[in-house]
Amino acid sequence: MECISSQSLKHCTCTYSACDIRGNCCKCVARHQGRGEIPGCFFTPEGERSYDRSVANFIKDQSR
Ligand code: SF4
Repeated sequence: MECISSQSLKHCTCTYSACDIRGNCCKCVARHQGRGEIPGCFFTPEGERSYDRSVANFIKDQSR
């Protein structure tokens, strides 16, 4: 599968603008998966802005 950053960036809801791979979904998923985390786009806007991508924070975010 090919990652097309220019197209992915249009749909990226991550607000961490300093990220070096923002808009590259393949690398984003791999990075967070490797850390046992979940990419920012799975969180609510409020949860995303915490920049805490942990599974525990995801569950907390979804149960609000
Ligand atoms: S979720 Fe993480 S890897 Fe993906 S764009 Fe945001 S900060 Fe970067």
